[in-house]
Amino acid sequence: MSGVPESVVIIGGGPGGYEAALVAAQFGARVTVVESGGIGGAAVLTDCVPSKTLIATAERVGRANLSGQLGVRVAGQVPGPGTVSVDFPLLNQRVLDLAAAQSEDITGRLRDAGVNIVYGHGRLVDRHRVVVDERSYSADVILLATGARPRELPAARPDGERILTWQQLYDLKELPARLIVVGSGVTGAEFAGAYTGLGCEVVLVSSRARVLPTQDPDAAEVLEVVLQQRGMELAAETRASAVERTAEGVLVTLQDGSRLAGSHCLMAVGAVPNTEELGCEEVGVTRDEGGYIRVDKVSRTSVNGIYAAGDCTGVMPLANVAAMQGRIAMWHALGEAVSPLNLKVVSSNVFTDPQIASVGVSQAEVDAGTARAYGIKLPLATNARAKMQGSDDGFVKIFCRVSGTVVGAVVVAPSASELIYPLALAVELGLKVDDLATTFTVYPSLSGSIAEAARRLHQVE
Ligand SMILES: Cc1cc2nc3c(=O)[nH]c(=O)nc-3n(C[C@H](O)[C@H](O)[C@H](O)COP(=O)(O)OP(=O)(O)OC[C@H]3O[C@@H](n4cnc5c(N)ncnc54)[C@H](O)[C@@H]3O)c2cc1C
Repeated sequence: MSGVPESVVIIGGGPGGYEAALVAAQFGARVTVVESGGIGGAAVLTDCVPSKTLIATAERVGRANLSGQLGVRVAGQVPGPGTVSVDFPLLNQRVLDLAAAQSEDITGRLRDAGVNIVYGHGRLVDRHRVVVDERSYSADVILLATGARPRELPAARPDGERILTWQQLYDLKELPARLIVVGSGVTGAEFAGAYTGLGCEVVLVSSRARVLPTQDPDAAEVLEVVLQQRGMELAAETRASAVERTAEGVLVTLQDGSRLAGSHCLMAVGAVPNTEELGCEEVGVTRDEGGYIRVDKVSRTSVNGIYAAGDCTGVMPLANVAAMQGRIAMWHALGEAVSPLNLKVVSSNVFTDPQIASVGVSQAEVDAGTARAYGIKLPLATNARAKMQGSDDGFVKIFCRVSGTVVGAVVVAPSASELIYPLALAVELGLKVDDLATTFTVYPSLSGSIAEAARRLHQVE
């Protein structure tokens, strides 16, 4: 290859692939996206978009049923569990329709940008060639963005009816009577919270003492207490060793031999990368022992001219990270100015109620001494707006250096995914706690707690 690359082939049309395609097209490359399912990827069609659509409804239903203390009455009665219910088939249809519409929108954007879309299974043949079924496509640059799929355990094989992956939930015709969720990571916790809000009995099986083991421990504790107050059962410090069908539903056998009966079981025990049938070994693209493609901070694989982005790299399984890795790959490949991927400024959110949003340095890093920072936690219980809304379970936590530079934050609040943005901006731009403390916030507002936490942190310095 000499000069600026002219042609790009991207395998996988999820956020890692389609965002890269838009960048490459913008810089004048001839771009082909190969997709074996639908454009938008698992993010749009089965994972991120469907789950957040379901959660939007669950939040409304759950909050409505908890609104008695705010003076709300439904037909003169104090609302409680089941007062407001859901048309479950309609909800699932809405989820699927919205995902399909989002996929169409993205397909349209790609076509408008001049991107060629090829449907089929793509596979590397050499550094400059991809085959899709019988057809061959040559490229100066190749991007692998094939994503990941739910991990399946041999003793708990999903059947799509009672034992389900998170991708099979939207085919259910009736709200599960008793849902057993195996796995208390982000996906397990989000669905356990959502189905509790929708009025199901939910049992969450957690291998750890606390749910959400990778999140801020104070945040996980708030969520665990809130979910249990709303009726969710927690089976902690145990694993599901087997899940089987019964005449009425499912039977989950736990490590200690005890059994949990339910109508349905959701397996949320992680993901595996879609990299087996990609020709990596033949072409020399290195994968790690988990099958994830090894990349550096500008998304290069071990083979010159072949890049990888998103969940197939295992760097950080988030749609925003996949999209950034894909863009960085194209900027680098096409000779544009590029900054390496910086995971220290990624903001992420757990879409439970309350939500848990975080950015930058974490409590675990501070406790382990790998990050030197001061932190403060300000409970929402003192925030006037939170009290008015009846949603004061939560807090704002900010970490700063001795210089006052903001390096991390956690927000636990109903709208934490929105509230984290000023804190992400502070981390990205290296703002000081005094910058946050002296900026006007609306009164009353939840963001007032961000400024207040910053003011208190100034005193700690
Ligand atoms: C339940 C759930 C909820 C989530 N919610 C969020 C969220 O709220 N926010 C967030 O940031 N992230 C969320 N995520 C994570 C997010 O969905 C992923 O990080 C994101 O999908 C990664 O994008 P990707 O492009 O790497 O892969 P994908 O979106 O998986 O896309 C990969 C595409 O490649 C295609 N493909 C695979 N192999 C081939 C092949 N050989 N040839 C052709 N095509 C191929 C697949 O069909 C797929 O369409 C969630 C994940 C789950 C499981």
